[in-house]
Amino acid sequence: MNLILLGPPGAGKGTQAQRLLESHGLVQLSTGDMLRAAVAAGTAVGKKAKAIMDAGDLVPDEMVAELISDRLDELDEGQGFILDGFPRTAAQADTVDALLTEKGRQLDRVIELKVDDELLVERVTGRFTCANCGQGYHDKFKRPKEEAKCDVCGCTEFNRRSDDNEEAMRARLEAYYDQTAPLLDHYRARGKLHSVDGMADMEDVARQIESSLRIA
Ligand code: AMP
Repeated sequence: MNLILLGPPGAGKGTQAQRLLESHGLVQLSTGDMLRAAVAAGTAVGKKAKAIMDAGDLVPDEMVAELISDRLDELDEGQGFILDGFPRTAAQADTVDALLTEKGRQLDRVIELKVDDELLVERVTGRFTCANCGQGYHDKFKRPKEEAKCDVCGCTEFNRRSDDNEEAMRARLEAYYDQTAPLLDHYRARGKLHSVDGMADMEDVARQIESSLRIA
């Protein structure tokens, strides 16, 4: 099974991709994660992408197309995947089509996570992760049980994404509505789109996604 998760920043794409990875053995291909890894490693791509990402803008299509293409090449035949954060523009949607055709694969579903803007801003500006094990937390919705100590591994260091501030988040939302939301019609017209209520709690969103995967 090959899926695309579509939705604005903070809609829960990463969280739900993680669950699908566990429940269906799919590989998560997140261009955001790939770019952050490139920034952390100080590669040429990372150096170009850093300022663009911090401003909440989209990096050039060719840059992410190459990252995704390389990752798809590495997958075993028959290994299903979830595209998380890609495609984000019409040109990237064309790239997905071309890559799938080239690799003899098909797109099974596009799942849209729908969430109101104000909740997105609140979710994104309050989130942080354990620096050691990556466990996710939130200033308001999910604080560690013991103050400043990870519930899972006991680490006392946490990370916040440099683009998880209100200004960058507003720019990311604008990029989403301008460039990514039009893709919903593209996939709806092809009968691939299933929309779920991303305002619901995590378990409920996961259940909605599971039932949309069962629809023939
Ligand atoms: P994300 O982790 O998906 O929220 O992505 C973080 C940032 O990485 C975005 O705000 C963009 O700057 C960049 N980015 C990630 N995926 C893409 C993409 N498919 N196209 C362009 N820029 C991207």
